Amino acid sequence: MSQPLRPGATLGVMGGGQLGRMFVHAAQTLGFRTAVLDPDAASPAGCVSHVHVQTDYLDAAGLQALVNAADAVTTEFENVPAAALNTLAQSRPVAPAGASVAICQDRAAEKAHFGASGVPCAPYAVIATEADLAAVDANLLPGILKTARMGYDGKGQVRVSTPTELAAAWHDLKQVTCVLEKRLGLLLELSVIVARGADGQIVHFPVQQNLHLGGILAVTTVPAPDVSPALAAQAVTRASAIAAEMGYVGVLCVEFFVVDDGQGGQALVANEMAPRPHNSGHYTIDACDLSQFDLQVRTMAGLPLVQPRLHSPTVMLNLLGDLWFTAGAEETEPAWERVLALPGVHLHLYGKTSARPGRKMGHLTVTGATPEAVQLVATQVRDILG
Ligand code: ADP
Ligand code: MG
Repeated sequence: MSQPLRPGATLGVMGGGQLGRMFVHAAQTLGFRTAVLDPDAASPAGCVSHVHVQTDYLDAAGLQALVNAADAVTTEFENVPAAALNTLAQSRPVAPAGASVAICQDRAAEKAHFGASGVPCAPYAVIATEADLAAVDANLLPGILKTARMGYDGKGQVRVSTPTELAAAWHDLKQVTCVLEKRLGLLLELSVIVARGADGQIVHFPVQQNLHLGGILAVTTVPAPDVSPALAAQAVTRASAIAAEMGYVGVLCVEFFVVDDGQGGQALVANEMAPRPHNSGHYTIDACDLSQFDLQVRTMAGLPLVQPRLHSPTVMLNLLGDLWFTAGAEETEPAWERVLALPGVHLHLYGKTSARPGRKMGHLTVTGATPEAVQLVATQVRDILG
């Protein structure tokens, strides 16, 4: 991009979920106007945007309306068809590019890209045909069969231990292209978020330690309590290499597994990446001087990137729809007033109209003077929410 976009211009986003909503908030804080394309009339981002184009992601008239409204476009939803981004890119700057998003949308392409970037991932095989299935190396079992496309929050994944289970699982998944990954013994999981400008400059957030429950992110802790500085530095270097290798422009999150290196130390294995801000980076809004959404705005607008700084230790708790049903079958709003009475609690609710188990309804960040003080409040929050 030659000229930066200035406040007053309109920033467009494909997708109207909570990530889009927080992007809109950051863009509007800087004085930008916003345009959201999302088919849902009640989408969390559409509700707070200046413009809401309410069509499907591939709808030609909708894409044209977004072009007419917006001076540049980003995405918040990784399953936005890359073709839609490519169409938009004929008329407007689009960051990240459709080609980058396409890599992140396909686990096989993603793993190949990790390899091309010199970053190790779990041993795997791509299963697209019966012949691929028959040729699978028994060393990959026990493993996890994952659909190559459209998986999220543990969906589209089956744990398999024997060739018979593998064959049955692939047939249950309708024989779509899958990746079989060796199941690793995880010491812990972490993620790192980088932002890369069109000029190649890269800045990064601190490494996040993540706890997943039932395949969904539950807790993010920063600074990562169990990650050595050397391993954290390696995660940043690797995420930066992955971004640079695809000429990425925008905010990129790379998830890593930490495994035993066989000598009592820790080794990093890349898991997957997201071409957008990430749930594990929500703490940046309250605990850093720049958030992941601020950097999404800056990268797409061609504005300066500066290295963000963590100004408070923090814990982020995801608020899933299950919390609305802890008292019984009736949907009941959790006791927010009790949570808000605790020090350093930042409650973010996404404005979703109905709660469902497993649905991301909001998140809560705790900040405080020390990691211990933050953990104490996080425990009190958990006790209140049940
Ligand atoms: P999703 O797109 O649903 O986030 P992931 O590939 O990140 O899918 O898998 C979800 C979770 O399942 C991971 O965060 C991790 O806890 C576990 N998992 C995934 N792959 C492996 C593996 N190869 N070995 C061990 N655990 C895994
Ligand atoms: Mg994941």
